[in-house]
Amino acid sequence: MSLVPCRACAQQVDTSALACPGCGATDPGKRISRQQRNAISFVFQLIVWATLLGFGGWYVWTTAIPMAKQYLVKPQTEPVPAPAIRQ
Ligand SMILES: [Zn+2]
Repeated sequence: MSLVPCRACAQQVDTSALACPGCGATDPGKRISRQQRNAISFVFQLIVWATLLGFGGWYVWTTAIPMAKQYLVKPQTEPVPAPAIRQ
């Protein structure tokens, strides 16, 4: 049992209080509210997914597409003649 200032109105509230008796803010003893924690976890998941999609896209672009081209495009039998050097 310890008292901390409410993060909304700075009134002394118990850390285990579910709502501030002064202003009614939820989890007044916590530094961040439940909604903020949800928002932070959402942003964190967004970053993780964006990174995964970014790496996935990068992998497809650099590895899978050249590999597919190798299979699809027939290799040229005749080499392209080099241009004659004029002197
Ligand atoms: Zn309060």
